[in-house]
Amino acid sequence: MARPVVAIVGRPNVGKSTLFNRIAGRRIAIVEDTPGVTRDRIYAEGEWLNNYFTIIDTGGIEPDTSDVILSKMRSQAEIAIETADVILFIVDGKAGITSADREVANMLRKNHKNVILVCNKVDTHILPDTFYEFYELGLGDPIPISASQGLGTGDLLDEVIKRFPEDKDTEYDEDIIKVAVIGKPNVGKSSLVNKILGEERVIVSDIPGTTRDAIDTLFEVGEDRFVFIDTAGMRRKKKVKENIERYSVVRSLTAIERADVCLMVIDATQGVTEQDTKIAGYAHENGKAIVILINKWDLIEKETNTYLNFEKEVREKLSFINYAPLIFISAKTGKRVNRVIDMIKTVSNNHSMRISTGILNDIISEAILMNQPPSDKGKRLRIYYATQVSVKPPKFVIFINNKELLHFSYQRYLENEIRKAFGFEGTPIWFQFREKK
Ligand code: GDP
Ligand code: GDP
Repeated sequence: MARPVVAIVGRPNVGKSTLFNRIAGRRIAIVEDTPGVTRDRIYAEGEWLNNYFTIIDTGGIEPDTSDVILSKMRSQAEIAIETADVILFIVDGKAGITSADREVANMLRKNHKNVILVCNKVDTHILPDTFYEFYELGLGDPIPISASQGLGTGDLLDEVIKRFPEDKDTEYDEDIIKVAVIGKPNVGKSSLVNKILGEERVIVSDIPGTTRDAIDTLFEVGEDRFVFIDTAGMRRKKKVKENIERYSVVRSLTAIERADVCLMVIDATQGVTEQDTKIAGYAHENGKAIVILINKWDLIEKETNTYLNFEKEVREKLSFINYAPLIFISAKTGKRVNRVIDMIKTVSNNHSMRISTGILNDIISEAILMNQPPSDKGKRLRIYYATQVSVKPPKFVIFINNKELLHFSYQRYLENEIRKAFGFEGTPIWFQFREKK
């Protein structure tokens, strides 16, 4: 299911990141934060009354280089209009209305979006005089909150979920593999999609998306059926080339959420950039199967070890997805593009693989024999029993005596042993440890 997107917009210092942090839930399944992604995190999962959504702090998307507040806010608002289902426009109840507020309000009003005007820093139950000024913005009733005190945020979230679109998603049959082609602009995503779909043995049909201008492309190769998620602007000639990086990052995010398999396209001439790390990290944290495609390999001059050195560098920078296979391709010449479909199938199978409880526990018993669990102050970690509870990605629950005795390194060891035994190439695997007394 595609999760609705909620974007936070507003001047600097109105409390955007404070509100973001309050709404952003902690993800239980994730045991370790992804380096390079955690830092200035701007996307997170939120939940309210069993409604799950993605929350974006648009203030964090652009690096703080431009000191022209207005242009920065304009682009924040553009991103929000382009990508969000609900926009939270935050104003500062202590400071009152400013010209930048008016400017942004004009933009948001023109785009018939679900905008909620939020008046922050109302730290007591008495509304400040400035509160009423905000009606001038023409965005309806402001909702008073105090992000730092947590006042009013429940009422705000009630309003947010009311505005979620119903049943946003096209449901596909279980056997259809959902693929998102992700990456920065100009790395060759469209070229790759067109190359794959242009193959003679591929049968293609378009599925008009139910969301925004999303279009998915269903295709068949032999017996297998796939869908490329959100190919709008990829297959058609682009109206406006999305040369703005941040758009495509947000676009990638929503595509990732709907996909099983992510093709992470990296431009060989640029190597792995910070944006690449962010996008890959999001796919990883969302538990998607991943294939790394190093594209434009035709442009690289090859000498001895060019491949090896390049792969080594990519692996270092994207070490958190070292389970992902990597293929050097050229979407332009078609070199090795034929291997991509097979790889999608492989990682998709691994992503939905189920391991029987008996075999799993055999592997874990062996692992424990070879390398004893750690102990602390005379107490030793005991591992009683493990079972796989879900797929996409494979998730294991492991019953132990005491979580405090569980060190990350031992967890990593168990993961490695499970991977050694079962492969799981291309898919993250998740663990949840439960205490059993
Ligand atoms: P951003 O630049 O919009 O992301 O704003 P921040 O979230 O960084 O907040 C800016 C400042 O306002 C910080 O010093 C916060 O502690 C403060 N702040 C945020 N929310 C509230 C609030 O509800 N009440 C008060 N009094 N201060 C707040
Ligand atoms: P997108 O923005 O990620 O969809 O990237 P495009 O597919 O539009 O490609 C951006 C540019 O890179 C275009 O000029 C393509 O012709 C070029 N390009 C894409 N793939 C390759 C490749 O494998 N080799 C070379 N030399 N150029 C490529």
